[in-house]
Amino acid sequence: MKVLVVEDDPAVAEPLLSGLQRNGIDTEHVVYASQVVPSVTGADVVLLDLGLPDGDGIDVLRDLRKVSDVPVIIATARGDETDRIVGLELGADDYVVKPYSVRELAARIRAVARRRRVDSTLESGRVVVDRSRHRALVDGQEVELTAKEFDLLAVLAEEPGRAVTRQELFSRVWDPVWVGSGKTLDVHVASLRKKLGDASLVETVRGVGYRLAVDGT
Ligand code: CA
Repeated sequence: MKVLVVEDDPAVAEPLLSGLQRNGIDTEHVVYASQVVPSVTGADVVLLDLGLPDGDGIDVLRDLRKVSDVPVIIATARGDETDRIVGLELGADDYVVKPYSVRELAARIRAVARRRRVDSTLESGRVVVDRSRHRALVDGQEVELTAKEFDLLAVLAEEPGRAVTRQELFSRVWDPVWVGSGKTLDVHVASLRKKLGDASLVETVRGVGYRLAVDGT
């Protein structure tokens, strides 16, 4: 997951960049409006400040939408509601008002990226998860999964190699306020591994959670 951070204020950018990294999100940082369109390739999400030294973020968003449908979160210190409304009308996916918590922002970044991918096919080497058809394949062979096993695999397959915390798996596959024992998750992972036919595809990250193995690592 890589986020293009467009922010001209170093006092905002520095803690933001390190905070996103801590949350497992890679970043590329630009300062000027003119850099956004040329830098967008490869970004999964753009975090766009509206007040930039060489232009307005709203104009950047308009230009960006001509060339890319990358999810955009606008970040503004302005209390002006108009900016937010115009931003959303121009195709921003979400907005945050400064000051915001990096943790909350990281969650929103993941959420907008997820919404874009909701009907897409996730591919990670040997594993293919086709969400629109609700099918999972390993080495081209369809695997019969229960609904929970499928959801679990789909969350892991969104970002192969990323350690997904137990908390995130609970809240996304079961319930946001899930408070049961951790065993349910482990039981489902064990069953998922068995059905995938290769237990090493789902790796345990001790003390954290699970991740989908990346081929060749
Ligand atoms: Ca600014």
